[in-house]
Amino acid sequence: MQIPFLVPDIAEAEIDEVVDTLKSGWLTTGPKTKKLERQLADFCNTNRLICLNSSTACTEMALRILGIGPGDEVITTAYTYTASASVICHVGATPVLVDTAKDSFEMDYDQMEKAITEKTKAIIPVDLGGVMCDYNRIFSIVTGKKHLYSSANKFQSAIGRIAVVADAAHALGATRKGKKCGEVADFTSFSFHAVKNFTTSEGGGLTWKAIQGIDDEEIYKRLNLLSLHGQSKDALEKTKLGEWEYDVVGTYYKCNMTDVLAALGIAQLKRYPGMLERRKDIIMTYDNAFKEFPVQVLKHYGKDFSSSGHLYCVRVSGKNRNECNVIMNKMAERGIATNVHYKPLPMLTAYKNLGFNIEEFPNAFEIFSNEITLPLYSKLTDEDVRYIVENLKACISS
Ligand SMILES: *Cc1c(COP(=O)(O)O)cnc(C)c1O
Repeated sequence: MQIPFLVPDIAEAEIDEVVDTLKSGWLTTGPKTKKLERQLADFCNTNRLICLNSSTACTEMALRILGIGPGDEVITTAYTYTASASVICHVGATPVLVDTAKDSFEMDYDQMEKAITEKTKAIIPVDLGGVMCDYNRIFSIVTGKKHLYSSANKFQSAIGRIAVVADAAHALGATRKGKKCGEVADFTSFSFHAVKNFTTSEGGGLTWKAIQGIDDEEIYKRLNLLSLHGQSKDALEKTKLGEWEYDVVGTYYKCNMTDVLAALGIAQLKRYPGMLERRKDIIMTYDNAFKEFPVQVLKHYGKDFSSSGHLYCVRVSGKNRNECNVIMNKMAERGIATNVHYKPLPMLTAYKNLGFNIEEFPNAFEIFSNEITLPLYSKLTDEDVRYIVENLKACISS
């Protein structure tokens, strides 16, 4: 048996919708992108959402609209993918990394609070594996630190405190305390990269909570300018007869979504609730199978939260990284691909060069030391899942 780490879930419906776009005569940002944006905003219970070419671009544009740049600090977790932190560097601000809490995949909120200075302009919590962070706690901390905050533009003063910009690359469809991911943080980015739950092959969505005193349309228009060369009309508007003339209001960026990719998303979104259910079934099967086994698993469902079920993270009790790598190799010999989420940022060259040292992040290091991520996707069959469970048990015990 061969079980890849991921097989994207693409049905005939997606193929048909993409072909329809290819035949339509309109390939780049246009009617399908606008349609997907409306549908995703409805899905997230928000007023507006913009689709861009990646979640990284979405988070970066959120920081840009907030006017965050050189001299500012932005806090994120050490236990994440580089994109959560590299965007801070892209805008010229200083990344401040915080350790995870002991035996948790989430940031240590006490340390996060201590890391706040008068330069802190945003916090980027990461909804790892699809599990939403404790936003009540995060908002109460940033509200408590209002006295340190000074605003540098109208978006910053309308928010009036450190902005919460969620990296929800994994978490489309997650809920916490009755709220959907997207309607909780000030800004929320989702990834539609091929390895994520919901995919347009590459792509991302940025949504936001209504900001008092600022029109959602103004934010949407500004995001369009930032993502499309600062051009006052998009390609579709320019095509209308007699409408060739446009202005460029800033030397901005290029990270718009195309209609070909949006078409994939439109078809995928119809199937997405079913895909989330399938992920839940698989997680329940894994959870039951590992109950009496010496592993700890990331908790995806609880009384007041439900994850999007993106990653099945296992921690093997009593093992170190080398021993876990041996287990992963044995799994590979049995045809099962596994992965590690994540090697903490301070262990990567770019972040070492920025002066980060893993010794200052003992909890993140400890999680990394015995973490193995199992395959989890809607195309896995029950038989695949049984095979993975049996073999993980065998490989850990042998
Ligand atoms: C995948 C991922 C991203 C980046 O998503 P892109 O759409 O590839 O830009 C950001 N953060 C996390 C945690 C991710 O896993």
